[in-house]
Amino acid sequence: MEFAAFADRAAAIEAESADTAITESVSALLADADDDLATLARFVQGRVFPAHESRTLDVGPRLCYEAIARAAGRNVDADDVEARLAETGDVGEVAASYEFGGQRGLGAFGNGGGADGLTVAAVADDLATLAAASGDGSQETKVDLLFGLFNRCEPTEARYLARLVLSEMRIGVGDGTVRDAVADAFDVPVDAVERAVQVSNDYGRVAEVARADGESGLAAIDLAVGRPVQAMLAQAGTVSEALDDWEAAAVEWKYDGARVQIHFDGESARLFSRNMEDVTDPLPEVVETVESALDAPAILDGEVVAIDDDGDPLPFQEVLRRFRRKHDVAAAREDVTVRARAFDCLHADGDDLLDAPLTERRDRLDALAPDDLVSECRFTTDPDEVGDVERRALDAGHEGIMLKDPDSAYSPGKRGKHWRKRKPDVETLDCVVTGAEWGEGRRATLLGSFELSVRTDDGYATVGNVATGITDAELEELTARLEPHVVDTDGRDVTLDPAVVFEVGYEEIQTSTTYGSGYALRFPRFVAVRDDVSPADADSLARVERLADAR
Ligand code: AMP
Repeated sequence: MEFAAFADRAAAIEAESADTAITESVSALLADADDDLATLARFVQGRVFPAHESRTLDVGPRLCYEAIARAAGRNVDADDVEARLAETGDVGEVAASYEFGGQRGLGAFGNGGGADGLTVAAVADDLATLAAASGDGSQETKVDLLFGLFNRCEPTEARYLARLVLSEMRIGVGDGTVRDAVADAFDVPVDAVERAVQVSNDYGRVAEVARADGESGLAAIDLAVGRPVQAMLAQAGTVSEALDDWEAAAVEWKYDGARVQIHFDGESARLFSRNMEDVTDPLPEVVETVESALDAPAILDGEVVAIDDDGDPLPFQEVLRRFRRKHDVAAAREDVTVRARAFDCLHADGDDLLDAPLTERRDRLDALAPDDLVSECRFTTDPDEVGDVERRALDAGHEGIMLKDPDSAYSPGKRGKHWRKRKPDVETLDCVVTGAEWGEGRRATLLGSFELSVRTDDGYATVGNVATGITDAELEELTARLEPHVVDTDGRDVTLDPAVVFEVGYEEIQTSTTYGSGYALRFPRFVAVRDDVSPADADSLARVERLADAR
């Protein structure tokens, strides 16, 4: 296809406002594509290479302005281009505002489309050559190549070439549009396209397979060790929601580091960042750990954390410094040590696991990797156990917890309800402790669960029990504080004089018939003893009512 024809189609798409019309136009473009199908499926989204490739053009704006200026003639320089850009804000418009084609010199007769002008294939070839330029003199090579391309552009071509080069296509075509357009153009189900894209991360290849082999061809596209997959993402959520929505929750530590995808082919490991950049070289100690720990090919998802000399986590900026490090990695490694914690397994020894439930993926992960490479995870239905994991995560210096649906598949690139990062408590309440329960077994001499009440006009009314968020040392201290206030004992239950006030976090307040107040705190967690607050100044039922209404 002539590049001018692509540019005209892009202009027509940009002029559309309705999503359906845009999808139809992209579908028609793909249907007419011939040999350029893969390239067009990428170009239309402003991509030059498949998303899973680390290859980039590495062309900064200034370099692009220089190439435009050179093609525009002797009297134009990069500053002029920038000045026009300041007025319009669109590099495409600026490129289209010049007359190109009069310039001669190195690169002016590059790999073009001959007398008929540029072709899509020629642009793709030149951009691949440009991406491959490295080392001394590569910047000049890049400017030369770009100049050669712009010099053969009519204004509409220049508009979309400039935007393509700077990854600013802005014609209203996103992933979803191309997905729907591929399905429409080649008569295959949208789901089949979506799955194939998740697995391959390359719309170009997916479009080609859809055209050549239809639905069955798409279904046959597998994960490949060495080709990164988009990361599954989490949304904010609460423990209560997770335990309400799912039969049980997988509770994991939320590590404060940077996402890493580990690809091990049986001999060597490659690592990819959340943006699918290759970060193998900056993280040699993770590579060493993985290569010595794993026996079978695998793709693992996890987090890299930086640790200090005691093994405690450091802020995530330290990890990012290591991720970005290109030179003197050995020196950087001496300054900051990193280690990986895998929390998911997308492929194990020949089996793709994206569609398997989390429970199975976790089993495969545990079977494959040693404990020190694997994240903490517990499957539970018990809010207290969730609290326990959270406390240990926080004690160990991590961010908090992630809650995951044990039955859920791995959905690359999706931010759904199956993974939830626990939102911190918004409010706390000062509650009076009006009762407690003796523990069992090892904790039989300690009070373990505490009844919480708020003030009413004529006394106190219960709003819940708290057993979560309290360390063993704190339990001993609390028992010593509260035991003198026991006024009645019934089995393991004790009634207490209102004497001690707890600050308590919670996720929400619900109406409830379980407690005397008519309200219940959901997922209450012990924060602190309020020595400075007397029971008479604890929070009132009226405040609880207001907070519940404010939801
Ligand atoms: P956020 O960046 O706040 O949206 O939180 C999501 C990020 O937490 C993920 O992209 C991971 O990089 C990170 N993370 C840390 N621990 C886990 C875990 N156990 N499961 C999933 N993501 C985790």
